[in-house]
Amino acid sequence: MDLKQNIENNPTIFGKILRGEIPADKVYEDELILSFRDIQPKAKIHVLVIPKKRIVDLREAKPEDAEILGHLMAKIPEIAAKAGLTAGGFRLVANNGDHAGQEVPHLHYHLLGGEELQKL
Ligand code: AMP
Repeated sequence: MDLKQNIENNPTIFGKILRGEIPADKVYEDELILSFRDIQPKAKIHVLVIPKKRIVDLREAKPEDAEILGHLMAKIPEIAAKAGLTAGGFRLVANNGDHAGQEVPHLHYHLLGGEELQKL
């Protein structure tokens, strides 16, 4: 399935954002990934980073997803800078599945900061 079809068939709220059906406060976008501000921020600055291709969570990532996931990780410093997270640093979190409380079944990384966070 190509990326266009994958996005068309994405039933999650992030699919709606990728199709432009609901708005998002975008921080960064390229052909493989999208970053936007979380609608219910859990820190002063809270942005999400998603691959445009739907991968449900990291348990479902396949060897052929390595390029997308590597690209996403490599773009984190640039996205953090655009979001205003460089000076103070940030936390990068991905909830994977029920035990982690994942709500949206489309892999996403939370970038949290803008203030001192509670230690994990
Ligand atoms: P998780 O609990 O790890 O699945 O995180 C899902 C995140 O998506 C939560 O922090 C939500 O606040 C966020 N979220 C849900 N809907 C939207 C939306 N329309 N725009 C931005 N963030 C959203």
